[in-house]
Amino acid sequence: MSADTDVEVLRRQGRIVVVGASLAGLRAAETLREKGFTGSLTMIGDELYEPYDRPPLSKQALLGRARPEDTALPRRRDIDAEWRLGVAAADLDRDAKQVRLVNGDTVPYDRLLITTGTRARPWFHPEEAALDGVFVLRTRDDSARLYRKLTGGVRRVLVIGAGFTGSEVASACREHGLEVTVAERGPAPLVGALGGVIGAVADRLQRKHGVDLRCGVSVTALEGGDVGRLRRAHLSDGSVIDVEVAVVSLGAMRNTEWLAGSGVAAGPRGIACDAGCRVFDVNGIVTDDIYAAGDVARSPHPLFDYQFLALEHWGNAVEQAEIAAHNMICAGPDRRPHLWLPMFWSSQFGVNIKSVGVPSLGGQLVVAQGTLAEERFVAVYGYRGRVIAAVSFDGAKWLGFYEQQIASGAPFPPEYRSVDRRSETLQPIESAFPDPHLPTHGPTITLTGHSPSERRVTFVPSHA
Ligand SMILES: Cc1cc2nc3c(=O)[nH]c(=O)nc-3n(C[C@H](O)[C@H](O)[C@H](O)COP(=O)(O)OP(=O)(O)OC[C@H]3O[C@@H](n4cnc5c(N)ncnc54)[C@H](O)[C@@H]3O)c2cc1C
Repeated sequence: MSADTDVEVLRRQGRIVVVGASLAGLRAAETLREKGFTGSLTMIGDELYEPYDRPPLSKQALLGRARPEDTALPRRRDIDAEWRLGVAAADLDRDAKQVRLVNGDTVPYDRLLITTGTRARPWFHPEEAALDGVFVLRTRDDSARLYRKLTGGVRRVLVIGAGFTGSEVASACREHGLEVTVAERGPAPLVGALGGVIGAVADRLQRKHGVDLRCGVSVTALEGGDVGRLRRAHLSDGSVIDVEVAVVSLGAMRNTEWLAGSGVAAGPRGIACDAGCRVFDVNGIVTDDIYAAGDVARSPHPLFDYQFLALEHWGNAVEQAEIAAHNMICAGPDRRPHLWLPMFWSSQFGVNIKSVGVPSLGGQLVVAQGTLAEERFVAVYGYRGRVIAAVSFDGAKWLGFYEQQIASGAPFPPEYRSVDRRSETLQPIESAFPDPHLPTHGPTITLTGHSPSERRVTFVPSHA
């Protein structure tokens, strides 16, 4: 049978299984149907709910402006799928081409799409994590529980980690009039994602809104009272604070454990796949029947030195899912690469923050519009003489322009004249990213590979 006939049979009567029934999984399923896939579609998800949207969970839902149960993702079309919800995939048998579920059922596939995303990194001490008042924020239920707690008469909240989620939680707490301490191991909020210069602006913003911000410290222990309720937190600088709520915002962990032993190149940094979303096996050979998309995937991007990018961005999940779905049901020459420009937004302390490109690659930046002092600006990041990223604080309307600059490899520092450009900010300055070996809460972008020309190995002796 020719490859074309195989693809035609697959499109008409193949079995496609999607593991991870959230944003990427749903958008892929819709795309498969849009593109004429008429075979069977099975959606496996360990959560009880049909796909819902996560960004509102740390924003509108914490402010009481939307209920977590009202965040269901809008449907673009009927996907005519068999839903297996509330049951996790336990392992993958590539030889038998089947997924085994935790309840022992097996689900055979011709093509498999993995969209198992990430989960919140839990507090490192399980007994402390179980105290009444200790929260993480990833799911609809997490958000509902946290909202109930924040509006149930508590006064003092500790946020552990000042990345995007932690900062948004702190912002919501201040809007509720609660006292908030934010503890961040790095030198400033958002520093892992945006660098120290912009981190300093985020720092001012938090303090201006009444946050008790403590940088360069970590929380070493959470202490409970007699009834198992959180009472105090101990910090690495020796201070002790009384708190009723702690929100652990230490970044995310990729859901890949279920693939251990499957022979797929999956680990803590995600699932390695090619730019067409086809998953690599552990030997570095690309598979043809297993695909990955969304937060769990990492793939090389030509604009960024072919480094493997793992992104935790809503828009990336959608776009990559659509590419994966397209490639799953077409022959080689028709396949497309996933070349999405990373893009992310956040709203906190009344400011709309948006980023395009990969700021953490940019060693230098120029404030192209506005000023840092006004907390209203566009900062443009440079890498090897070209524009690599841009970040706006209340200036999102400009980012489409910078997207084009990044895509076209425009020179850095930028040469164009633009509205609201101030002469005092034209000189490039170091963007001050912390040493990546020193952990902060973790950026929402990770670069996990190098182009072959830059390949190097570092030997780390074992201290065991
Ligand atoms: C609080 C919060 C705020 C955010 N705000 C923003 C924002 O402002 N802007 C932005 O760009 N992005 C934001 N994001 C990130 C965005 O929501 C993610 O990029 C997006 O959800 C990724 O979708 P996904 O489908 O790849 O993964 P996920 O949404 O993580 O979904 C993966 C699904 O797979 C399930 N699963 C895991 N393992 C298994 C298994 N073994 N078997 C079956 N199912 C499994 C998971 O439970 C989950 O339902 C935010 C995320 C959170 C949590």
